[in-house]
Amino acid sequence: MTTRQLFLQNVAQTSDFPLALEIQKAEGIYLYSETKKYIDLISGIGVSNVGHRHPKVVEAIKNQVDNYMHLMVYGEYIQAPQVHLAEALCKTLGHTSLNNVYFTNSGTEAVEGAMKLAKRFTQRTNIVSCNKAYHGSTQGALSLGDEHFKRNYRPLLSSIDKIERNDFNDLEKITNRTAAVFFEPVGGESGVLAANHDYLHALRSRCTEVGALLVFDEIQSGFGRTGKFWAFDHYGVHPDILLCAKGMGGGMPIGAFIAPNEIMAVLKDNPILGHITTFGGHPVSCAASLATLNVIFEENLLYDPNNCQKDCNRIACKSIDCSFIEQKSQLFKKLLVHPKIKDVRGIGLMLAVEFESFEVLKPIIDRAIEKGVITDWFLYCDNSMRIAPPLIITEEEIKFACDVILSCID
Ligand code: PMP
Repeated sequence: MTTRQLFLQNVAQTSDFPLALEIQKAEGIYLYSETKKYIDLISGIGVSNVGHRHPKVVEAIKNQVDNYMHLMVYGEYIQAPQVHLAEALCKTLGHTSLNNVYFTNSGTEAVEGAMKLAKRFTQRTNIVSCNKAYHGSTQGALSLGDEHFKRNYRPLLSSIDKIERNDFNDLEKITNRTAAVFFEPVGGESGVLAANHDYLHALRSRCTEVGALLVFDEIQSGFGRTGKFWAFDHYGVHPDILLCAKGMGGGMPIGAFIAPNEIMAVLKDNPILGHITTFGGHPVSCAASLATLNVIFEENLLYDPNNCQKDCNRIACKSIDCSFIEQKSQLFKKLLVHPKIKDVRGIGLMLAVEFESFEVLKPIIDRAIEKGVITDWFLYCDNSMRIAPPLIITEEEIKFACDVILSCID
């Protein structure tokens, strides 16, 4: 049997139409099959922010494998890769009170941990999430999501209240029974919907007013994807708990929920070991993640230090002159103009190109893949093309990819 036949027979499928590209090698923004070269315009869905197999990430992985791999379940031994990654993450959050990191294996596991943490800390039961938000597929995270994915998997968590993103009236649904509000500052699977500035401030105020914890899910938007290291830094609003995963590992599996010490402390007693994971914060993944974080800053993937007016490596600066990612974002927006394109929205390199319908979009995506440009649509927005390339994509590569997309539309 061929590898393709074995894939279809022995590897679990989640749809009847998997892409089924057989990739032999990946490097930078490119994937290679035996016969073809592809531009990965979606970064393996928001993962390869620093490109595939970044040499510094690969080196960190090799060095760590030479020292040790798994030693002990999470939280018992002092493992330098974890410690240094936690320190580096907290440094990016130095302007907030987030200073304690719980490492997980994935995004959905970070969501689960944060839900438990918020319930324990507030001693409340209810959780609020947005319509058309995707927070993961395990049963707690799935409970936060939309009916479409939930309906055949009940019973799930029952005490979930849904709000509409950017709707001020719905803030009333956040009450003194709410343990936490799970919110993406820039919604991913809803088709890249950024929160309005005033709304995010109002959401923060409402949570503070009723004593609910505000949890930002930056699993897709974090690690530079939107042009700042954290998307919430575009707004000057801070969460009580922050979630990250995906791009965090530079291609290795890892996630985290991050909170102030005093909130995280509730996992220590009644019962002790309030959240357990065997592999969470695997040392090889942590080494890869620290290298990824360092690449983003040391190689100036986000900012041009020579053009930087203020210390915009941190917060507050709205200038696009010094933001490489914003310049690349603008280039996509400038080039992707066509009568069939209704809108190009998004922030940084987290973009959605809107068409009239899925029926119009799907053949364009198929044709683009045939021509060597991989794109996709969104779980909750099937009339929009996902564009989220590695942050290292160059101007020439953007021009080439846009030419291909436009020719496919034609
Ligand atoms: N939250 C968001 C915003 C996501 O985009 C995703 C993955 N698409 C998840 C959570 C779940 O992450 P994972 O697939 O690593 O479990």
